[in-house]
Amino acid sequence: MKKVIFVVVDGMSDRPIEEFKRKTPLEMANTPNMDKLAQKGISGAMNTIDIGVRAGSDTAHLALFGYDPYTYYTGRGPFEAAGLGMNLEPGDICFRTNMGTVNKDMVVIDRRAGRINSTHFIADILNETMIDGVKFLIKGDDSYRMALVMRGKNLSPKITDGDPHEDNVKVHTIEAKEDSFEAKFTAKVLNKFLEFAHEKIKDAEENVKREKEGKFPANYLLVRGPGIYPNLPSFKDKYGLKACGIAASPMYKGIAKALGMDVPRIAGTTGKPNSDLMKKVEAVKERYDKYDFFFVHVKGTDPLSHDGDFEGKRKFLEEKVDPMVGEMMKIENTLIVLTADHTTPCELKNHSADDVPVTIYAKSVRDDDVVHFNERECAKGRLGHIKGMNLMPIIIDLMGLASMYGA
Ligand code: ZN
Ligand code: ZN
Repeated sequence: MKKVIFVVVDGMSDRPIEEFKRKTPLEMANTPNMDKLAQKGISGAMNTIDIGVRAGSDTAHLALFGYDPYTYYTGRGPFEAAGLGMNLEPGDICFRTNMGTVNKDMVVIDRRAGRINSTHFIADILNETMIDGVKFLIKGDDSYRMALVMRGKNLSPKITDGDPHEDNVKVHTIEAKEDSFEAKFTAKVLNKFLEFAHEKIKDAEENVKREKEGKFPANYLLVRGPGIYPNLPSFKDKYGLKACGIAASPMYKGIAKALGMDVPRIAGTTGKPNSDLMKKVEAVKERYDKYDFFFVHVKGTDPLSHDGDFEGKRKFLEEKVDPMVGEMMKIENTLIVLTADHTTPCELKNHSADDVPVTIYAKSVRDDDVVHFNERECAKGRLGHIKGMNLMPIIIDLMGLASMYGA
């Protein structure tokens, strides 16, 4: 086994659905390829972080790659910023940022500035602003999102959000969450910057034009989820594997990038249920000789689950995920891992702590009696019940790369 394709289908796992006669979308879906993978592979149930822990996508992915989130996780902001293409340094304070619209009383009228489709002009105006020795790095996106990073000395991520998380309320003043010089200084400088930025962009040409057209101007940076860019050992150093991350949503690209994976842009993939997943297989095939490990992320299942759309989820698994897996299985001499980062029950419309199914498919794997890939069947497999942090060591061993403990 020389190569690995590591497939994470976001929030794929679910709970029984009454309308499906108490089957999950995965059990209800007709997935011959995923079933074949389970037949030939070794399966199990997995809690990506720990038993009883409701995993976020970011922490779960760190654990799946063998990075203990309790050591390395500092917030979602750093991964979002990295995923939008920023080159970050350990110590940078990163935020998730929306361009929003405020009125003259600083009340948020629209948290997404009318879903504006480009924030590059904001970055052009504000990037590299210096305030009190702190540099503000800003990167636009082809959406209402952008990345904001503070770089300098004496900074701390222990501050509150400026984003009130709802419309028709005033923007929040950033406050220190702890009684330290760094937290207070960071809050003070960020408040100064947000005010400066608002003054600077509210009458920008693009915004004046938008207002004339009856659209919401992008006149305020709504920041949330501050995190300090972590100093992560690279995936290559940790496992000796050259890795490529194939994902469409910024955060997953950011996690891959933070681990030192190459993250190509794949046309046709969207991070939404309309994504063309076959493009991901093509992307793997095109790069097959260049890398040892391919992380393939599929997002569509998670937004469908958050919408409670169990029928859409079943259909997406059947029509998009299963054919993708089938195509991957045609690539010879490759270990394939198929799993989810957490359970997102459609009934909850949010993540739960239920375990997820996992299958490892490889030529020399000790296969078991599992013949269907789903929550119920995989749990009967001989991989037993594992945690996310166990997965990479198992893969490394199956690749014949594990060093022996003892003599
Ligand atoms: Zn997720
Ligand atoms: Zn989710």
